[in-house]
Amino acid sequence: MKSNTFSIGGVHPHEWKKAASSPIEDFPLPEEAAVSMAQHLGSPAEPVVAKGDKVLVGQLIGRATSFVSAPVHSPYSGTVKAVEPRADIAGNMVMHVVITVEGDQWLPEIDRTPDVPMEVRFSAEEILAKIKDAGIVGLGGAAFPTHIKLNPQKKVECLIINGTECEPCLSSDDRIMREYPRQIIMGARLMMRALGTDTCYIGIEENKPEAIQALGDVAAYWPGQKVVVLRKKYPQGGEKQLIDAVIGRRVPSLGLPIDTGAVVQNVGTALAVYEAVQKNKPLIDNVFTLTGPNLEVHRNFRVRVGTPYSKILAAAGNLPEGPLKLISGGPLMGKAIANIEATTLKASSSLLILSGDMVPRNPEMSCIRCGKCVKACPMGLEPYLLNRLCRAGGRQDELEKERIYDCIECGCCQFTCPSYIPLLDMIRTGKAEVMKIMRSRSKK
Ligand code: SF4
Ligand code: SF4
Repeated sequence: MKSNTFSIGGVHPHEWKKAASSPIEDFPLPEEAAVSMAQHLGSPAEPVVAKGDKVLVGQLIGRATSFVSAPVHSPYSGTVKAVEPRADIAGNMVMHVVITVEGDQWLPEIDRTPDVPMEVRFSAEEILAKIKDAGIVGLGGAAFPTHIKLNPQKKVECLIINGTECEPCLSSDDRIMREYPRQIIMGARLMMRALGTDTCYIGIEENKPEAIQALGDVAAYWPGQKVVVLRKKYPQGGEKQLIDAVIGRRVPSLGLPIDTGAVVQNVGTALAVYEAVQKNKPLIDNVFTLTGPNLEVHRNFRVRVGTPYSKILAAAGNLPEGPLKLISGGPLMGKAIANIEATTLKASSSLLILSGDMVPRNPEMSCIRCGKCVKACPMGLEPYLLNRLCRAGGRQDELEKERIYDCIECGCCQFTCPSYIPLLDMIRTGKAEVMKIMRSRSKK
């Protein structure tokens, strides 16, 4: 079998995918849940319920407020306890609908039977409308509203389904590919109809043989869909890297993936699209990995949106001694959890628990000009130089010339640096400043 990967840079971190053999379990419903109105890229949703209202599972509780926005639905039945700002994982105050959970009553129009209808019964317009109304967002991390990405206003040559899950520790995508292959293939077919393309590639890394087999078996029944086995390399799940790996085309600097004729969607998004279109189910839950290299238990849960991280942490059993670092997402691109009472979002994929000995704070040393960061950068940048310019301050012109805006914040440079220089932290800050300048210039 041919095995491909992207052409520039990348690293090979230890996998630590200890949860990969754990089947998906339903996470118990919390007694109280707080559902954020800012779960997606773009304008936050606006609450349409008030204190004292009764809600059912699947009921609209937040409406989309602009073109780039998505509605939010209740993952619970119960009573609205409050509509108020609460802190997210970073401690930022965000509007939430707080629900006292009572039973588990779903809207009657949601099909909860185990049937998997494999017939495309809707037009492209109807599929897009259903995806929009169900509040589907990209589950690969960015949480961009899916209905917009599926309507690119440009000719689409192929859909690429991202089943790489290249970050260490994460297993939720692997599990859904093994357990829901028909639903994912059907979700892909619906997206192909919406995009007007007959071609779909499903990119999966070679370390997931069961997922490759499961999706390959189902895809074989449908013309135009094909599993592409990829060599294991981080950050293969980045859109630009995946397009390069699967169809051998490079997204131009400052360009969009659609400039290559490809649209990329995550396997989790394909499953959510299937559920929205074929089962009338809005995006109210997702599959979530609870793991950590030193934990005794490693589990995959179907978690309702709005579940407190503290409840998921409690399911980890005995925690390693000493200080812990809690991360939402993978160890390389995930976000540190500063507030454990914060709740999960539509695109939350994991709670990663790292013990103190796994997050050593090695003292930073001087750059020895070894060039490892340059070799590792998948965007062809010079991270040591970007770091120097960022630290010097006021060098935005030079940073722009060095294409800091192309940085995908993958962390390969920092991962590989023998001098423990916090390259990503510096570059991220510098990139934000340059992007601000570029945005204000384009408005003039
Ligand atoms: S974080 Fe940015 S600069 Fe560093 S390797 Fe990734 S793309 Fe390159
Ligand atoms: S990897 Fe670190 S030490 Fe080597 S050139 Fe890059 S910044 Fe300098």
